[in-house]
Amino acid sequence: MVGVMPATALPVLPSEAVTPAGAGTSSEGAVRAGRRRPAMPPRHLADLDLAGRRAWLAELGHKAFRADQISRHYFGRLVRDPAAMTDIPGADREGLAAAVLPPLLTQIREQTCDGGATRKSLWRLHDGSLVESVLMGYPDRVTVCVSSQAGCGMGCPFCATGQGGLRRNLSTAEIVDQVVRSAEVAASGVLSSGSPGAEGGAKRGARPSVPSRLSHVVFMGMGEPLANYDRVVAAVRRLIAPVPEGLGLSARHLTVSTVGLVPAIRRLAEENLPVTLALSLHAPDDDLRDELVPVNERWKVAEVLQAAWDYAARTGRRVSIEYALIRDVNDQPWRADLLGRLLAGKLAHVNLIPLNPTPGSRWDASTKPVEREFVRRLRAAGVATTVRDTRGREIDGACGQLAASEPSQPSVPSAGEGPLRGVGPVIDTGASVAQTRSLVQDPVGIPGKLVQSGWADSRGPGGKAKR
Ligand code: SAH
Ligand code: SF4
Repeated sequence: MVGVMPATALPVLPSEAVTPAGAGTSSEGAVRAGRRRPAMPPRHLADLDLAGRRAWLAELGHKAFRADQISRHYFGRLVRDPAAMTDIPGADREGLAAAVLPPLLTQIREQTCDGGATRKSLWRLHDGSLVESVLMGYPDRVTVCVSSQAGCGMGCPFCATGQGGLRRNLSTAEIVDQVVRSAEVAASGVLSSGSPGAEGGAKRGARPSVPSRLSHVVFMGMGEPLANYDRVVAAVRRLIAPVPEGLGLSARHLTVSTVGLVPAIRRLAEENLPVTLALSLHAPDDDLRDELVPVNERWKVAEVLQAAWDYAARTGRRVSIEYALIRDVNDQPWRADLLGRLLAGKLAHVNLIPLNPTPGSRWDASTKPVEREFVRRLRAAGVATTVRDTRGREIDGACGQLAASEPSQPSVPSAGEGPLRGVGPVIDTGASVAQTRSLVQDPVGIPGKLVQSGWADSRGPGGKAKR
């Protein structure tokens, strides 16, 4: 769970556990309420674009072009060890790397399955927060699923991440570094061979070989990417910028998944970034979606779908509609037909995810015959539909299973309160569901005024949705 702390970390108050650091949080409100915010990490070169890095190094008394050199090591060669940066004078290397490449992620556990082709990493951040990423090798691609927040404040009751509340937003570099570290692992050949650097990759006939270059990134790990908007968009820019500015990935190989924060979807459409948008719909009707995706209380099905179609029109990218099939909850034939009617003729594709049961949940995946019938009805309506593979499930690395737990550690209680800056769209505020709900009830949203509705906590991990 995200609410589980490593032994070395300081105890954290419940209010801190949901007060997002940095973006969009009212420090005034936090001070007034006597709360400390979880600390953001030290600045890292991936937080800045190349021009910003040059200016930063000049301020530190280095030659500006060192920014290009060290960026090439980090993004191009995937090298962080100053000893390997031989084009930088020996006297400068250590100091330079210490200044602009502070260690952000400490890997404290790696779990593998699929013969080593799927690898889940548990990372400890500088403040003791825990996040996970999952690296998946396929014959034609290497994909990493990254976290954008430590925890999540959106409270979807079927999702393990949502059960622990939000601890804080990740910085841009903390997001980018998950990708860079994963690219390093992919380059080692371990996804094919099962052991780092093993000669020749997979034994012929034993396992298909996997490319050694990481190519795809999905923002489907812990957190709601669009609730950490500015940092996530900056991370996307770093990932697609060519070396030395960034990692040089194709924007078309990036997918940002959202629970449906409408103003943020609209803002993303204007960024001129042709990334794929995945919309976690999970129900075609407001009655059920209100229960499964609490933010639906704020932005209803019709509104979020309209934002998705506008995104598709603006970017030319087909939207992926995510739908976790939950037995006897959202898998009825009539819901398949209703979904089909909503999506027919749209630039959309449905990605059905067999529910990954989370600890303590009474919900389960739909049966295979029911799943097949759901697919059949969608396709009959003319909607492209696939069923997602369950990669990583046995190591709790599949969708909705990421909870960043350290089994031996005491847990921190979850909470649903915290100050929230400003009015209106939940962009970059990291607002929790309770906060969003309060915003609905109290559209003024005065910092420090929001009170916990108790609503986000009223449903436990086993909470059953009304139908
Ligand atoms: N917060 C974002 C991205 C992270 S969740 C979002 O909600 O879209 C990534 C995907 O996993 C989402 O589609 C989410 O609905 C889905 N998911 C969450 N819990 C799940 C579970 N237990 N089983 C299957 N999919 C789940
Ligand atoms: Fe957050 Fe996404 Fe999980 Fe909902 S499904 S709680 S938005 S991570």
